[in-house]
Amino acid sequence: MTADESPDTAAQTHEVVVVGGGPGGLASALYTTRLNHDTALVDRGGGRAAMMLDTHNVIGVTEETSGGEFLQTAKQQLDHYGTELYRDTVTDIEATGEASPRFVVETDGQTLHADAVVLSTGFNDIRPDPPLPRTGRGLHWCLHCDAYMFRDEPVYVMGHDEGAAHVAMIMLNFTDEVDLLLRGEEPDWSEETDELVRAHPIDIVSTDIDGMFKDPEDSSWLGGFEFEDGTSREYRGGFAMYGSDYNADLAEGLGCERNDDGTIVVDEDGLTSVEGVYAVGDITPGNNQIPIAMGEGAKAGIAIHKSLRTYPKALSELSAEGDVDADTTSTASADD
Ligand SMILES: Cc1cc2nc3c(=O)[nH]c(=O)nc-3n(C[C@H](O)[C@H](O)[C@H](O)COP(=O)(O)OP(=O)(O)OC[C@H]3O[C@@H](n4cnc5c(N)ncnc54)[C@H](O)[C@@H]3O)c2cc1C
Repeated sequence: MTADESPDTAAQTHEVVVVGGGPGGLASALYTTRLNHDTALVDRGGGRAAMMLDTHNVIGVTEETSGGEFLQTAKQQLDHYGTELYRDTVTDIEATGEASPRFVVETDGQTLHADAVVLSTGFNDIRPDPPLPRTGRGLHWCLHCDAYMFRDEPVYVMGHDEGAAHVAMIMLNFTDEVDLLLRGEEPDWSEETDELVRAHPIDIVSTDIDGMFKDPEDSSWLGGFEFEDGTSREYRGGFAMYGSDYNADLAEGLGCERNDDGTIVVDEDGLTSVEGVYAVGDITPGNNQIPIAMGEGAKAGIAIHKSLRTYPKALSELSAEGDVDADTTSTASADD
């Protein structure tokens, strides 16, 4: 169905369409909505924030708040201010080449028109083969969120690339019991890293994991791993480091420039290489944290407002419209 065929085209035309309902997209949508722009947010559900069992590093949000509760509260805030919330998947976005609407956004269920688009589609953590503990109960994906809970505890880092070696060395700032689990893979790091990581007090375990056992005092938590060579080791928890699978199909389709690591190239306001298309949160370079995604979302929302708002106009423009004395128009501009 195209917007033209729709019985209610106006209802599906928005100034701003935000793709992705994680912290980045929600913040963008809150700003554009409260800066008086008709905004829709399309989210298919899931995402990294939804995986959180508890929330760390977010001032004003209690640690016990789950990702689901955090997102639900945010969506209620947006709903209160009038953001149009769609539970749907965006399948394609095309630039029209027109001033307005600038973009046609196709979802599984409908067609939306927009003058600005925000991509906050995030990424999926690449998971190694099982056996794996439960996320948040011995398997962790976020160093800056969860390293704190492993102070003076035995931890593992799973992986065999530069990132895994680096995170294992960083974990020595929190505990002196760090194992790097290669899980039967050959190290895929540079000679320099090899020398460095082996010089640190880290046990590098080559053999793969065969099974795991629970913490005898809390059966919801990992107790440790059994290895194929018949040994076993106790852990409080650890991190899996196998890279990120970026949800970048829409950005790719629009022709947005990408970085070598798969993130989208953006300026300080989140503007991509395509005019009118912004990207925020984990899909962009930088630390993958809720406050950072929200800050990026806020900056993009304000930048979109500046690009879409009607006022202030240049004196010359007002003069041309007949509202201002032409003698006063020489130097003023609409820039803020
Ligand atoms: C287990 C875990 C725990 C974490 N704990 C913390 C913590 O305690 N504190 C902290 O600061 N950070 C934490 N993080 C990091 C934090 O979750 C991310 O940095 C943050 O969620 C990034 O927000 P985002 O909006 O960029 O992406 P996400 O939260 O990943 O949201 C992206 C959304 O876009 C949707 N989407 C993607 N493609 C489409 C499409 N085509 N159409 C419609 N929707 C689409 C996804 O389904 C998803 O809902 C944690 C991460 C993980 C994995």
